[in-house]
Parts: sequence; structure tokens; C-alpha cells
Amino acid sequence: MTTGTDPDPWRKKYFDSLDTLENEKLQFRAIETALKRVVGRLCTASLGLSPQLDQQIRKLQAVIRRDAVAADDLEKLTPALTEAIGALDPPVGSAPVIAQPAVKHPVEIDDSRLRSILTALLSELRRDSELAPQVDTLESKIATSLTGAQLPDVLATLTDLVGQRIQRIEGAKQEIEGLLSHMVGKLDEIGQFVAEQHHSQSQSQANSETLNTQLVGEIKAMGETMESTGDLQQIRQQVRHRLDSIDRHLQEFRQREATFAAATLARNEQMRSRIAELEAEAKRLHNQLQDEQRLSTIDALTRIPNRQAYEKRIEEELHRWRRFKQPICLAVWDVDHFKRINDTYGHRAGDRVLRVVAECFAGRIRTTDFVARYGGEEFVMILPGTQLEDATQLSEKLREAVAEIGFHFRGSPVSITVSSGVTALLPEDSAGAAFDRADQALYRAKQTGRNRCIAA
Ligand code: GH3
Ligand code: MG
Ligand code: MG
Repeated sequence: MTTGTDPDPWRKKYFDSLDTLENEKLQFRAIETALKRVVGRLCTASLGLSPQLDQQIRKLQAVIRRDAVAADDLEKLTPALTEAIGALDPPVGSAPVIAQPAVKHPVEIDDSRLRSILTALLSELRRDSELAPQVDTLESKIATSLTGAQLPDVLATLTDLVGQRIQRIEGAKQEIEGLLSHMVGKLDEIGQFVAEQHHSQSQSQANSETLNTQLVGEIKAMGETMESTGDLQQIRQQVRHRLDSIDRHLQEFRQREATFAAATLARNEQMRSRIAELEAEAKRLHNQLQDEQRLSTIDALTRIPNRQAYEKRIEEELHRWRRFKQPICLAVWDVDHFKRINDTYGHRAGDRVLRVVAECFAGRIRTTDFVARYGGEEFVMILPGTQLEDATQLSEKLREAVAEIGFHFRGSPVSITVSSGVTALLPEDSAGAAFDRADQALYRAKQTGRNRCIAA
């Protein structure tokens, strides 16, 4: 049709135009399909902002679902759609209406898991007293609200704080390593001193032996002279000569001994100061390690022992129990409806509750008892030398004490209660099995209405 052999140029032009139009039509179809897809996605993303807007979006979705979209239909939808978007948020100044919802409606993140991860991370970071002020600032920033828009900044600050904590731990580790290698150097010096001392003692012994041999030789020579010579004058001369020799030997011996003694004294003095330095460094190291140890077993928020400390203590108690067969009870505690406290009064109020409850528990148990924050709003108690009946009675008293604390949030009294599961250790128990039994009893306490203690 469009070949160069066509004799009629008008005919050729006509068919060329038809081809062009056909191509353009295909291109527009492709653009229309792509636009429909984009509009469809935007519609889905915009749903849920307001019922009025949802209604308009549904209409728009219906229109674009048709095979051929009429421009008229779209035009008709535009005013109502604009009005629905405008109603979301009145336009400020000359800002484009369409930009308003995203800017003026930050989406509050209501994810208790995310919050408890952040809270745990911040408590961990607060262990480092140098970081505590920065942690407090960040915590108060997210305490009242945490929005999607804030999240990148919050995560960036957290990353920075974690980086600082790692750097400080690394610094402390290097300091301890330096101290240890310094101490090893000192110990080497002490080892060298012991070897030198030994050598010096052997030399001193050899010195005495030499003197002994010399004296024996001189006396023997004197005896021989006396036997072989009858002349008194000669004997006197020989004796004087021998006595001079003996005197010289003795003087040399004393000199050698004095040199040894001076060297030993100097070495001793040097060692005394080395040992004193070593003792001071060992003490510093011990204190530093003790501080680290104490920090790693204390819960940063409530200042009572943490789960790690509990795991260690229960193993010790189990060991003692197997030897002495004294009864031991375990109580697992959980704050009732704690999520509600966080949700209603904020996380800082929730944190305060945890601190006060921990204080209440710790202040009311015997010094031989043990209480730890097991995690979140859960606590665990070890009660050695206590029968199940007494442990249940004590738990009841503690439960009542918490219920009577009288918290006030935003000026109104709020009652906080706790529930517990109590169990006595059995001969075949592992720490985990006893905990699970107490935890199941706690579950029953929750199921049967909370604010109660159940023994298993
Ligand atoms: P129940 O009576 O059944 O125990 O209900 P609950 O709401 O206490 O229990 P749930 O396990 O649903 O909620 C526990 C909440 O404790 C959720 C979590 O965000 C919060 N939480 C955990 N650790 C902390 C913390 O360190 N501080 C604060 N403020 N909240 C925490
Ligand atoms: Mg719980
Ligand atoms: Mg709870």
C-alpha cells in the first residue's frame, strides 16, 4: 500500500496518515493503561483518611475500571474529590491542597512491641552514666508520641548512642588488657628477681666454701711447717705469714659478701616497690571488674537484680537446697493490665510503676530472700527456708501492699495491682521446671480475675 511504486501520491499520503494515527492510538492506549494503574495505586494508598474522601475514591476507582474512560466522567468527579481532600485539612496559605494530608497528619506509631524494644534498648544504654542524659532526652522525645516521620531521627540518635556505648566498652576492655599486660611484665620482673636471688645465694655458698678451703689449706700448711722445722724463729715467721694470708682471705670474703648483700638489698628494695605497684593494680582491676559485674546484674530501670542475676542465684539456691534439703519457694509476679497503664498515661508513668513496685517488693522481703526483674513487667522471687503455705501468705501480703500504694497520674488516683504464681521446689526440679510451674499458676491467677496469688 505504501510502496514507492504507487502511482497516486494522494493515495500514498492517505495511507501514511492512517498508519500514523493507528500508531498514535496504540501509544495513547499504553499511556492510558499506565495512568490507570498509577491512579489505582494512589487510590488504594489514600483510602482510610476520611469517609468522605473514601467515597470519592471509590467513585474514581469505578470510573477508571471501565474500558474506555470518558474525560467528562473524570471532570465531574474532580470538584467533590477536591472538596474531600480539602476537608481533610484546610489549606494553609498558598500550599497545594493535595500536599496537606501527608504533612499535617503524622501517623502515630501504635506498636507496643516496637515501644518495648526501644524501652529495653534505652534501659540498656542508661547503664552507662555518661550516656544517661542523652538517653533521657531521647526517651522524653518519644514518651508522649512516636510518629513515622520521627522514626528516622530516633533511629539515627539510637544508632549514635549504641555506637558510643560500643566505643566505651571497647575502651574499658583495652584499659583492662593494658593493665593486665603491665601486670604480666611486673610478674616477669619478679620471676627474674627470684632467679637472681637464687644465683646470688649459690654464689655466696661457693664463696664460703672457698674461704673454708683457703683456711683449711693455711692451717694445714702451718702444721706441716711446724712439723718439718725445728727452728723457732722460722716457725714464728711462717705462722705470721700464714696469719696474714688468713686475714687477707677473710677480708676478701667479707668484701665479696658485702657486695652480694648490697646487690640483694637493692634487688629487694626494687621488688618491694614492684610488688606494691602490682597489688595496687590488681586492686584497681578487681574493683573495675566488680563494678562491671555489678552493672551487668542490676536492672537499669528498677535498680534491683535482673534476670541474669536471677539465673545465677537460682542455680546456687538449687545447689544449696540439694545439700541441706531446706524448703525453697519461687514466686513469679506480673503487673495487671500494664499495657493499659502505658497506653493511658504514657511510658514514663509505666516506668514509674515498675520502679515503685520493685521498691515495694525489695523493701518487704527478708535479706535472705531474693527478688529480680525478670523482664518487662514481670518479677521473680526466691524464698529460701520457706514452706509453700508461708510463701503464699507472704505473696498475699505483698499483693495487698502493691494494691495499697496509691499511684496518682495526671492528678487522679490510679489503682495498680499485681498477680502471682507461687510454687515450692520439688526434688526432681530444674530451675526451668519450677519457674514454668509458678508461671502456669500465675496464668491461672490472670484467668481467674487478676489481683490474686495462686499456689501450685
Ligand atoms: P496482664 O494483666 O494480662 O498481664 O496484661 P498486661 O497488659 O500487663 O500484659 P501485656 O503483656 O499485654 O503487656 C505488657 C506491657 O508491658 C507491654 C509492654 O509494652 C510493656 N512494657 C514492657 N517493658 C516495659 C518497660 O520497661 N517500661 C514500660 N513502661 N512498659 C514496658
Ligand atoms: Mg507480662
Ligand atoms: Mg501484665
